[in-house]
Amino acid sequence: MIPVVMPTYSRIDIVFDRGEGAHIWDTTGRRFLDFTAGIAVNALGHAHPYLVEKLTEQAGKLWHTSNLFRVAGQEQLAKRLCDLTFADTMFFTNSGVEAFECAVKTVRKYQHDTGHPEKTRFIVVGGAFHGRSTTAIAAAKSEKMVGGFGPLLDAFDQVPFGNMNELRAAITPQTAAIVVEPILGEGGIVVGSDDYLKALRDTADEFGLLLVFDEIQTGVGRTGKLFAHEWAGVTPDVMPIAKGIGGGFPVGACLVSEKAAKGMVPGTHGSTFGGNPLAMAVANAVLDVITAPGFLDQVTATGAKLKAALETLVATYPTVLADARGKGLMLGLKCVKPNGEVVTRLRENGLLTVPAAENVIRILPPLTIGDVEIAEAVSIIDKTCQEL
Ligand code: PLP
Repeated sequence: MIPVVMPTYSRIDIVFDRGEGAHIWDTTGRRFLDFTAGIAVNALGHAHPYLVEKLTEQAGKLWHTSNLFRVAGQEQLAKRLCDLTFADTMFFTNSGVEAFECAVKTVRKYQHDTGHPEKTRFIVVGGAFHGRSTTAIAAAKSEKMVGGFGPLLDAFDQVPFGNMNELRAAITPQTAAIVVEPILGEGGIVVGSDDYLKALRDTADEFGLLLVFDEIQTGVGRTGKLFAHEWAGVTPDVMPIAKGIGGGFPVGACLVSEKAAKGMVPGTHGSTFGGNPLAMAVANAVLDVITAPGFLDQVTATGAKLKAALETLVATYPTVLADARGKGLMLGLKCVKPNGEVVTRLRENGLLTVPAAENVIRILPPLTIGDVEIAEAVSIIDKTCQEL
């Protein structure tokens, strides 16, 4: 008999009951150190008191009104994010894939409305992940995700991540935009160099293309900057975000420059739930914490400490671990042993991590961790490597 919850995930047989900071307890009372943060979502850890306070306060006032009316929290969050980034406007969603979908529509409409209706195609990179809608799986081009769901939108031309020669060779008069994650997340924590991101910007400008950075996983402080592209000193035209901005509440947004948003006039896009007052109360609270003086510097410092410790573990256990990679608190360990086996053994020893492509395990802790959590994680990885 089919499970009542559609079995699209092969789920681990653990049910969590409560969380606090970087710790999470299952229904048997067992505690785990959560270095998944719900796959880069719980940016401030579990049950952050300030988020609980703001969510509770809003829950007692107003949950939902629809987007037929102005929503004060949306206007507040949008103004703050515009002031902090390249963006001049944004559309709120409930998830990453919806933000990606909005990015695709925004690009197409821009090219159409600025006299280039022939520019409908997107250059994407190998190892990319943009979500699970039919458009997003068409963009990722992974056989595992695509198999059986076709025919899909034929609008994506894939080139290897990091390779500018192949990217430039793939540009045609039909190309509308380049779409890249500054660091491949699901693709195995592969960091795009500053030079690569700069070259993407220059190339987009040279050929009249829009540049889309998918910062759904890399954004909202994860790398030690509010958004990862800031490290390279370049800006995109369109940027879908999600995950961390809600701290666990489902929120996404598609941030867009005034130029690129040209075609997105009333009636062109919509969402019943996107940006509702509850979501906006939490997202504004997340932003309060992440933009507090010193917070992002702390993420950079903590990330450097954790990465150095991971590098020591790699050097100590070369038959288990191959390298440590990543930026800020978006880190990965490339494994010699199968990554699934390492993730399972780490979990049995009390540390939660997430597998990714390239035989990598992702280390995505809450941005609020400190020395105590690093020491516990390192000790669990050390013990696990000895066992493997
Ligand atoms: N884009 C990137 C880079 C992601 O990492 C993800 C999720 O892992 C998505 C898009 C899709 O987001 P969601 O699962 O919220 O739809």
